Amino acid sequence: MKNAKSPKKPLIYYYIVSLIVLMLINWLVVPALFNIPEVEVDYGTFLDELYAGNISEVSVSDTQIAYMLKSYSDGKRVLFKTGNMGEPDLADKLYKAGVTFTKVLPKQQNYFITLLLTWVVPFLFVMGLSRVLMKKFGGLGNTMSFGKSNAKVYVEAETGKTFNDVAGQEEAKEALQEIVDFLHNPVKYKEIGASIPKGVLLVGPPGTGKTLMAKAVAGESKVPFFSISGSEFVEMFVGMGAARVRDLFKQAQEKAPCIVFIDEIDTIGKSRNSGMGGNDEREQTLNQLLTEMDGFSPDKGVIILAATNRPETLDKALLRPGRFDRRVPMELPDLQGREAILKLHAKKVKLDNDIDLNLIARATSGASGADLANIINEAALRAVRMGRKVANQSDLEESVETVIAGYQRKNAVVSQKDKLIIAYHEIGHALVAATQSHSAPVHKITIVPRTSGALGYTMQVDEAEQILLSKEQALDRITTYMGGRAAEEFVFNSITTGASNDISQATKLARAMVTRYGMSEEFGMMALETVNNPYLGDESSLLVSSETSSKIDEVVLRILKDAYKKAKDLLKQNSGKLHELSKELLEKETMTGEEFMKIFNDPDNKLLDNTAAF
Ligand code: ADP
Ligand code: MG
Ligand code: ZN
Repeated sequence: MKNAKSPKKPLIYYYIVSLIVLMLINWLVVPALFNIPEVEVDYGTFLDELYAGNISEVSVSDTQIAYMLKSYSDGKRVLFKTGNMGEPDLADKLYKAGVTFTKVLPKQQNYFITLLLTWVVPFLFVMGLSRVLMKKFGGLGNTMSFGKSNAKVYVEAETGKTFNDVAGQEEAKEALQEIVDFLHNPVKYKEIGASIPKGVLLVGPPGTGKTLMAKAVAGESKVPFFSISGSEFVEMFVGMGAARVRDLFKQAQEKAPCIVFIDEIDTIGKSRNSGMGGNDEREQTLNQLLTEMDGFSPDKGVIILAATNRPETLDKALLRPGRFDRRVPMELPDLQGREAILKLHAKKVKLDNDIDLNLIARATSGASGADLANIINEAALRAVRMGRKVANQSDLEESVETVIAGYQRKNAVVSQKDKLIIAYHEIGHALVAATQSHSAPVHKITIVPRTSGALGYTMQVDEAEQILLSKEQALDRITTYMGGRAAEEFVFNSITTGASNDISQATKLARAMVTRYGMSEEFGMMALETVNNPYLGDESSLLVSSETSSKIDEVVLRILKDAYKKAKDLLKQNSGKLHELSKELLEKETMTGEEFMKIFNDPDNKLLDNTAAF
C-alpha cells in the first residue's frame, strides 16, 4: 500500500512544542549565557569610580549610562547602570579618565531584526529539520509522538484493489459485499432495523489473500481505510500498545464511516489464559481493544476487519457476539479457484497462446493464491532467462516444479551409479502408481536434482480435484510412496537414504488414516488425535493413553509394511518394464507422462519381462 497519509493532529502539537522550546531558549537560556548581570547605581557612585580610575568602558545613551569596571573584587563581571544627567562635559571627563566610551544611538530597526533572529529564523529552521526527519522516518507517528497509532489512512483510490483483484474466493466476497453495501447505503439497513456486524474476522491459511481481500473491501467501499498490523501494537514500552489502540479508534471515529483493518490479529488477540507466562503488555493491549470495540455502535459506521491464520488461539472474549461476531473463511483455493487465480495473474505477464492453465491448476493442488502468483512470476522470469519474449507452457511447468521442489541444480555432481539408483527409484514410484487402479496418472518423472535436496521426483496430476480421499486411494498413495525404496531393494539388493521423504509422507498419511480418518479395523471411528492448527501445518496432539498410543504405532507400522510388500510385488510382476523404463529415464533424465505410458503400455516389450537387464 502506498500513499499513506499521516494523521494531521500531531503536527499541530509539534508546532506548539517547538514554540515553547524557543520561548524557553530566548527568555531563560540566552540571557543566562550572554547577558552579564546588571546593577543600578546612583550617579555619584559612577563619578566616584570614574575619578578613581576604576572604569574600563562606558556606553552612553540619551537616558542611561552603562559602565564596566577594570577589575571586580569577586571576579564576577557586572554591568553598572545609572541615569544620564545630561552633563555637558561628560565626554571630556571620560576622555581624561582614559575610558573607552561610545554614545549609543537609538536603534529602531533592532526590534525587528531581533525578532527575526531569535524567533522566526530558529522556528523555520526547526520546522525544516522536522520535515526532513519526518521524510526519513516515514511519518510523524513513528518518530515524534510515542503512543500514537501509526495506522495509515488509505483512501479508495490508493489501495487500488477491488474485488476483481481477488479470484476464487466467491463466498468471502459475498459476505464482505454486505459490509461494503452498508457503508454505501446505511439508511437502507437502519430503516429495517438491521444492524451490521461490528467486527469481521478473515480466517484462513497463509497466502490465501486475506490482506488482499481487506484492501479490496476498502477499494470497493470508497471510505477511509485504517490498516495496522497486530505486531505494531506490541511495543518495547509497556502501555504503548494500549495507547495505540485508543488512538486508532479515536481517529477512526473522527473519520467515520471508515474501515479499521487489523492484520495478523493473533499477535495481540491471543487467549489470555494460554499459559506460557503472562504478558502484561499484550493483555493490556487486548483489553483496550475489547473496551474500544464495546465503546461504539456500528451505526456510526466504523467497521473492524481483522485477519488471522491462527483463529483457535484467539481469546474467546474477542469472538463473542458484539465484537468479531462474523467469521469469513478464506480457504485454500479449489481447482476452479486455482485456475481463476492463475488466469488473473497471467494477465500481468506475456504468455504464449497455447497455455493450458487448467493443467497447471490440476498440478498444484494444495497451493495457495500466493504460491500461484509466484508460479506465474517464476515462469516469466524463466522466459527472460531463456531469452524469450513470452512465457510458454514449459516455463509454467518448470516453475510449478521450482515452487514445489526448488530450482534445478544443473551442475550438481551425481555419480553414474547414484543416477542409476535414482532412476530406478523414481520409476519404482511411477510404475507402482501406474499399475494401481486408484492412483493419479503420472505426469512427469525426472532425475534432475533440485535445490530443495530432492534428487528426482515423480509428479502425479489428477484429472479432477480430489475432495474426498477413499481408503483405497489412501492405501494406493502409501504404496506409491513405497515404490521407490522397493525398486532399490528389488534391483540392487541394497537400500539408500533417498527414500527419507517418502517414508515421512507415507507415515504421516498412514497415521492420519488411523487416528483421524477412522480407516483402521482396530479403532474404527474413534477420534484419537486432534489437529492443533488447521491452517498452519498439521501438527496434532494425541488424545489417548500411552497403551493406546503404542497400539496405534503397531497399526500404522502394519499398514506401512503391507504397502511396502505390495509395492515390491507389483514391481516384481513388472520387472521388465521397470528395467526398460529406468534405462530410458537414465538416458533422458526427464520423461513426460505420455512417454512413460507409451513404453508402459507397449505389448512388444513383454518378452523382456523377468529378464534382468542389469
Ligand atoms: P494472506 O494475507 O492471506 O497471507 P495475501 O493477501 O498477503 O495473503 O496474499 C499474498 C499475495 O498472493 C497477494 O498479493 C496476491 O498477489 C496473491 N493472492 C493470494 N490470494 C489470491 C487470490 N484469491 N486472488 C488473487 N491473488 C491472490
Ligand atoms: Mg496477510
Ligand atoms: Zn522417492
